[in-house]
Amino acid sequence: MPTLQSTQFGKLPGRTVTVSESGPLGLEQGEVILTFDDGPRAGTTDSILDTLDQFGVKATFLMLGSSAERYPSLAREVAARGHTIGTHTYDHVDLSSLSNQEAIAEIYAGQQAVAAALAPDNLAPSRFFRFPYLAQNGLIRTSAVESRFIVLDVDIDSKDYYAETPQQVLERTLDRLDERGAGVVLFHDIHLRTAALLPDFLKALQERGYQVVALRSSGGGVFDTPVITADASRGIPEN
Ligand SMILES: [Zn+2]
Repeated sequence: MPTLQSTQFGKLPGRTVTVSESGPLGLEQGEVILTFDDGPRAGTTDSILDTLDQFGVKATFLMLGSSAERYPSLAREVAARGHTIGTHTYDHVDLSSLSNQEAIAEIYAGQQAVAAALAPDNLAPSRFFRFPYLAQNGLIRTSAVESRFIVLDVDIDSKDYYAETPQQVLERTLDRLDERGAGVVLFHDIHLRTAALLPDFLKALQERGYQVVALRSSGGGVFDTPVITADASRGIPEN
Protein backbone atom coordinates (compact mmCIF):
# COMPACT_ATOMS: atom_id res chain seq x y z
CA MET A 1 0.00 0.00 0.00
CA PRO A 2 1.50 3.37 -0.98
CA THR A 3 2.13 5.98 1.65
CA LEU A 4 -0.88 8.26 1.85
CA GLN A 5 -0.09 11.90 1.18
CA SER A 6 -1.88 14.74 2.88
CA THR A 7 -3.51 15.76 -0.39
CA GLN A 8 -5.38 12.46 -0.39
CA PHE A 9 -7.20 13.48 2.78
CA GLY A 10 -9.09 16.33 1.23
CA LYS A 11 -12.45 14.99 2.30
CA LEU A 12 -11.53 14.19 5.89
CA PRO A 13 -11.86 17.76 7.23
CA GLY A 14 -15.55 18.49 7.64
CA ARG A 15 -17.63 21.53 8.37
CA THR A 16 -17.44 23.75 11.42
CA VAL A 17 -20.29 23.40 13.89
CA THR A 18 -20.87 26.42 16.13
CA VAL A 19 -23.07 25.94 19.17
CA SER A 20 -24.41 28.39 21.73
CA GLU A 21 -25.79 26.03 24.37
CA SER A 22 -25.49 22.55 25.86
CA GLY A 23 -27.37 19.79 24.12
CA PRO A 24 -27.39 17.86 20.87
CA LEU A 25 -24.75 19.07 18.42
CA GLY A 26 -26.76 18.25 15.33
CA LEU A 27 -24.17 15.96 13.77
CA GLU A 28 -25.02 14.21 10.54
CA GLN A 29 -24.21 10.56 9.97
CA GLY A 30 -20.50 10.19 9.25
CA GLU A 31 -19.53 13.28 11.22
CA VAL A 32 -17.02 12.96 14.05
CA ILE A 33 -15.84 15.45 16.66
CA LEU A 34 -12.44 14.69 18.20
CA THR A 35 -11.91 15.67 21.82
CA PHE A 36 -8.81 15.36 23.98
CA ASP A 37 -9.07 15.67 27.77
CA ASP A 38 -6.69 16.27 30.68
CA GLY A 39 -3.80 17.98 28.87
CA PRO A 40 -1.82 19.73 27.77
CA ARG A 41 1.21 17.55 28.42
CA ALA A 42 4.68 17.80 26.86
CA GLY A 43 5.59 14.76 24.79
CA THR A 44 2.05 13.77 23.88
CA THR A 45 0.00 16.88 23.13
CA ASP A 46 2.66 18.21 20.74
CA SER A 47 2.75 14.90 18.85
CA ILE A 48 -1.04 14.90 18.62
CA LEU A 49 -1.00 18.47 17.28
CA ASP A 50 1.42 17.42 14.53
CA THR A 51 -0.78 14.49 13.55
CA LEU A 52 -3.90 16.66 13.44
CA ASP A 53 -2.03 19.11 11.21
CA GLN A 54 -0.91 16.33 8.88
CA PHE A 55 -4.52 15.35 8.34
CA GLY A 56 -5.79 18.94 8.26
CA VAL A 57 -8.39 18.42 10.98
CA LYS A 58 -9.38 20.42 14.05
CA ALA A 59 -10.10 19.03 17.51
CA THR A 60 -11.34 20.28 20.87
CA PHE A 61 -9.03 20.09 23.89
CA LEU A 62 -10.64 20.05 27.34
CA MET A 63 -7.75 21.23 29.47
CA LEU A 64 -7.18 20.97 33.18
CA GLY A 65 -6.29 24.24 34.86
CA SER A 66 -3.36 22.53 36.59
CA SER A 67 -2.04 21.19 33.27
CA ALA A 68 -2.33 24.59 31.58
CA GLU A 69 -0.43 26.15 34.47
CA ARG A 70 2.35 23.60 34.05
CA TYR A 71 2.54 23.87 30.24
CA PRO A 72 1.20 27.33 29.35
CA SER A 73 3.14 27.63 26.10
CA LEU A 74 1.77 24.29 24.96
CA ALA A 75 -1.75 25.47 25.78
CA ARG A 76 -1.12 28.51 23.59
CA GLU A 77 0.28 26.29 20.85
CA VAL A 78 -2.96 24.29 20.78
CA ALA A 79 -4.88 27.54 20.26
CA ALA A 80 -2.39 28.85 17.72
CA ARG A 81 -2.90 25.76 15.57
CA GLY A 82 -6.60 26.59 15.35
CA HIS A 83 -8.06 24.07 17.75
CA THR A 84 -10.82 24.80 20.22
CA ILE A 85 -9.93 24.90 23.91
CA GLY A 86 -12.43 24.10 26.61
CA THR A 87 -11.90 23.25 30.27
CA HIS A 88 -12.22 20.27 32.59
CA THR A 89 -11.91 21.70 36.17
CA TYR A 90 -8.68 22.74 37.84
CA ASP A 91 -7.49 19.39 39.15
CA HIS A 92 -9.77 16.65 37.84
CA VAL A 93 -12.04 16.41 40.84
CA ASP A 94 -15.14 14.20 40.86
CA LEU A 95 -17.64 17.05 41.05
CA SER A 96 -20.48 14.74 42.02
CA SER A 97 -18.70 14.29 45.37
CA LEU A 98 -18.76 18.05 46.13
CA SER A 99 -21.39 20.54 47.16
CA ASN A 100 -22.85 22.55 44.33
CA GLN A 101 -20.96 25.65 45.43
CA GLU A 102 -17.66 23.77 45.69
CA ALA A 103 -18.22 22.19 42.29
CA ILE A 104 -18.84 25.50 40.57
CA ALA A 105 -15.77 26.97 42.26
CA GLU A 106 -13.69 24.08 40.89
CA ILE A 107 -15.08 24.60 37.39
CA TYR A 108 -14.30 28.32 37.56
CA ALA A 109 -10.79 27.66 38.89
CA GLY A 110 -10.07 25.50 35.86
CA GLN A 111 -11.45 28.07 33.46
CA GLN A 112 -9.46 30.84 35.14
CA ALA A 113 -6.17 28.91 35.00
CA VAL A 114 -6.59 28.04 31.32
CA ALA A 115 -7.57 31.64 30.59
CA ALA A 116 -4.42 32.83 32.36
CA ALA A 117 -2.26 30.50 30.24
CA LEU A 118 -3.80 31.82 27.02
CA ALA A 119 -3.96 35.49 28.01
CA PRO A 120 -0.41 36.42 26.84
CA ASP A 121 -1.56 35.71 23.28
CA ASN A 122 -4.85 37.57 23.79
CA LEU A 123 -6.69 34.29 23.54
CA ALA A 124 -9.30 32.77 25.82
CA PRO A 125 -10.91 29.37 26.25
CA SER A 126 -14.22 28.66 24.62
CA ARG A 127 -17.30 28.01 26.75
CA PHE A 128 -16.99 24.21 26.47
CA PHE A 129 -16.70 22.28 29.70
CA ARG A 130 -16.50 18.54 30.31
CA PHE A 131 -17.12 16.84 33.65
CA PRO A 132 -14.15 14.79 34.94
CA TYR A 133 -15.06 11.07 34.88
CA LEU A 134 -18.24 12.34 33.17
CA ALA A 135 -19.50 12.45 36.78
CA GLN A 136 -22.26 14.96 37.39
CA ASN A 137 -25.69 15.50 38.82
CA GLY A 138 -28.57 17.58 37.57
CA LEU A 139 -27.97 20.44 40.00
CA ILE A 140 -24.30 20.91 39.12
CA ARG A 141 -25.01 20.57 35.42
CA THR A 142 -27.73 23.22 35.65
CA SER A 143 -25.41 25.52 37.61
CA ALA A 144 -22.67 25.11 35.02
CA VAL A 145 -25.08 25.92 32.22
CA GLU A 146 -26.39 28.96 34.12
CA SER A 147 -22.75 30.06 34.47
CA ARG A 148 -22.52 30.16 30.64
CA PHE A 149 -20.57 26.93 30.25
CA ILE A 150 -21.53 24.62 27.41
CA VAL A 151 -21.39 21.06 28.74
CA LEU A 152 -19.72 18.80 26.19
CA ASP A 153 -20.88 15.21 26.49
CA VAL A 154 -19.30 12.06 25.02
CA ASP A 155 -20.76 9.59 22.53
CA ILE A 156 -17.77 7.29 22.05
CA ASP A 157 -15.36 6.76 24.95
CA SER A 158 -12.08 5.35 23.62
CA LYS A 159 -11.07 4.28 27.14
CA ASP A 160 -7.54 5.04 26.05
CA TYR A 161 -6.47 5.07 29.69
CA TYR A 162 -6.72 1.26 29.82
CA ALA A 163 -3.34 -0.50 29.85
CA GLU A 164 -3.80 -1.84 26.34
CA THR A 165 -1.94 -1.62 23.07
CA PRO A 166 -2.67 1.30 20.75
CA GLN A 167 -4.16 -1.24 18.32
CA GLN A 168 -6.65 -2.52 20.89
CA VAL A 169 -7.83 1.00 21.70
CA LEU A 170 -7.98 1.85 18.01
CA GLU A 171 -10.11 -1.15 17.09
CA ARG A 172 -12.56 -0.72 19.97
CA THR A 173 -13.01 2.97 19.25
CA LEU A 174 -13.61 2.37 15.56
CA ASP A 175 -16.09 -0.41 16.35
CA ARG A 176 -18.10 1.88 18.62
CA LEU A 177 -17.99 4.69 16.13
CA ASP A 178 -19.17 2.40 13.34
CA GLU A 179 -22.06 1.23 15.55
CA ARG A 180 -23.19 4.83 16.09
CA GLY A 181 -22.21 6.21 12.72
CA ALA A 182 -21.31 9.64 14.14
CA GLY A 183 -20.50 11.35 17.40
CA VAL A 184 -18.13 12.97 19.85
CA VAL A 185 -15.06 10.80 20.50
CA LEU A 186 -13.21 11.07 23.81
CA PHE A 187 -9.45 10.65 23.87
CA HIS A 188 -6.84 11.88 26.36
CA ASP A 189 -3.81 13.78 25.11
CA ILE A 190 -1.74 12.63 28.09
CA HIS A 191 -1.20 9.06 26.93
CA LEU A 192 1.55 7.85 24.60
CA ARG A 193 -0.73 5.14 23.24
CA THR A 194 -3.21 7.82 22.16
CA ALA A 195 -0.54 9.79 20.32
CA ALA A 196 0.62 6.50 18.76
CA LEU A 197 -2.78 5.39 17.51
CA LEU A 198 -4.01 8.73 16.21
CA PRO A 199 -2.44 8.55 12.71
CA ASP A 200 -4.00 5.12 12.11
CA PHE A 201 -7.31 6.28 13.58
CA LEU A 202 -7.48 9.26 11.23
CA LYS A 203 -6.46 7.09 8.27
CA ALA A 204 -9.27 4.71 9.13
CA LEU A 205 -11.77 7.56 9.39
CA GLN A 206 -10.69 8.73 5.96
CA GLU A 207 -10.97 5.25 4.46
CA ARG A 208 -14.42 4.74 5.98
CA GLY A 209 -15.71 8.05 4.70
CA TYR A 210 -16.04 9.94 7.96
CA GLN A 211 -15.55 13.68 8.26
CA VAL A 212 -13.95 15.40 11.24
CA VAL A 213 -16.06 18.37 12.25
CA ALA A 214 -14.56 21.41 13.97
CA LEU A 215 -16.47 22.58 17.03
CA ARG A 216 -16.78 26.20 18.13
CA SER A 217 -18.78 28.02 20.79
CA SER A 218 -20.54 31.31 20.17
CA GLY A 219 -21.38 34.10 22.54
CA GLY A 220 -17.91 35.11 23.73
CA GLY A 221 -16.17 33.62 26.73
CA VAL A 222 -17.56 32.33 29.98
CA PHE A 223 -16.45 35.51 31.72
CA ASP A 224 -18.54 37.63 29.36
CA THR A 225 -15.53 38.73 27.40
CA PRO A 226 -14.82 38.24 23.71
CA VAL A 227 -12.97 34.98 23.18
CA ILE A 228 -10.09 36.71 21.42
CA THR A 229 -9.56 39.35 24.09
CA ALA A 230 -10.50 37.69 27.38
CA ASP A 231 -9.12 39.06 30.61
CA ALA A 232 -8.91 36.29 33.18
CA SER A 233 -9.05 38.73 36.08
CA ARG A 234 -12.55 39.90 35.23
CA GLY A 235 -15.91 38.33 35.87
CA ILE A 236 -14.91 35.76 38.50
CA PRO A 237 -17.55 35.33 41.22
CA GLU A 238 -16.41 36.67 44.58
CA ASN A 239 -17.58 33.68 46.61
ZN1 LIG B 1 -10.51 13.81 32.41
